[in-house]
Amino acid sequence: MPNVLINLYSDTVTKPTAAMREAIARAEVGDDMSGEDPTVNRLEALMAERLGHEAAVFACSGTQSNQMGVRVHCVPGDELLIESAGHIACFEGGAPAALSGVTCRQIPGRLGMLDIADLEGKIKADNQHLCTTRLLCLENTTNVGGGRAWPLDQLARVCGWAHDNGLKTHLDGARLFNACVAGGYSAADVGRNFDTISICFSKGLGCPMGSVLVGNRDDIRKARRIRKLFGGALRQAGIVAAAAVYAMENNVERLAVDHENAKTLAREIAKIDGLSITVEDVETNLVFFEVDPTLGNAAQLAAALLERGVKAGASGAYRLRACTHLDISRDDVLKAADVLRQTVQAGFRNYKGSTTGPYARA
Ligand SMILES: *Cc1c(COP(=O)(O)O)cnc(C)c1O
Repeated sequence: MPNVLINLYSDTVTKPTAAMREAIARAEVGDDMSGEDPTVNRLEALMAERLGHEAAVFACSGTQSNQMGVRVHCVPGDELLIESAGHIACFEGGAPAALSGVTCRQIPGRLGMLDIADLEGKIKADNQHLCTTRLLCLENTTNVGGGRAWPLDQLARVCGWAHDNGLKTHLDGARLFNACVAGGYSAADVGRNFDTISICFSKGLGCPMGSVLVGNRDDIRKARRIRKLFGGALRQAGIVAAAAVYAMENNVERLAVDHENAKTLAREIAKIDGLSITVEDVETNLVFFEVDPTLGNAAQLAAALLERGVKAGASGAYRLRACTHLDISRDDVLKAADVLRQTVQAGFRNYKGSTTGPYARA
């Protein structure tokens, strides 16, 4: 395994800083499963307040908090609606079906986002032959959709439509604060549109682990029972909640730096012959670009880059994703762009990369 010098694979690769580790070391803790961890309680109160909701519950991962949300709203046999590339449907191991008996109906949108016209006619009739369409899941920012921050008016319109038509709404806000910083809106502006919201601390916020599910008191009480059922009720979880409190105080505004670095990377990629990118589509910290198929595929390019110390992910046969984060500077981004240019110029077809990352077989 070559030494990875610049890791753009994901924003999950960040390591806790000395200051975050100090906050972890100082954390007051208790038995959270009994509701007695003061740091977890503080984090849950803080997140409920930031989202404009009544309550919140800490979870191990974004997958867990998303699936707690699905289970809160749905019963076995129900169906949820989601954009085609949605994480809940595509990248959580089939959890809606496996854990809750729920079918995902994937609806093609644009850059991971939907509008009312995409959804009209998709709610099944009340008929014993059909499953019950119960829940709409949206993602902000969109991940595989393209790292986009939803326009607030579109979000409100789509959620309003869903509620008017008797659906519950859940937001996969793994990168909600990236969306807030890029979109110029508050977390509460987004939160008030949804019944439940899931947020990750382990992405751009730089924590080692942890997520939260936010909603009304009844839904969150229900979610606590589900968390236990899913094996996610913890004991002295204040150790990790302390990192999340630290991140909320120190690592939110600085996401703008990651977005600026992503834009810089996108502009550099646009100058490289053999690669293509729509620079305007890069709004947050996720940079998706395409390789000219006559030169090779995404897995081969990713393998060649890795050999030169730059790690990016193949997210499709000819599509790659590079991700900026807390441990990536502007200088790193410029160096990575140089490596990318040299690699494409040198040719990468002979590198072994038989699969295209976790997403598809080549
Ligand atoms: C990372 C991520 C999650 C959570 O995934 P984990 O593997 O549980 O960390 C959920 N939704 C989106 C859009 C994500 O990017």
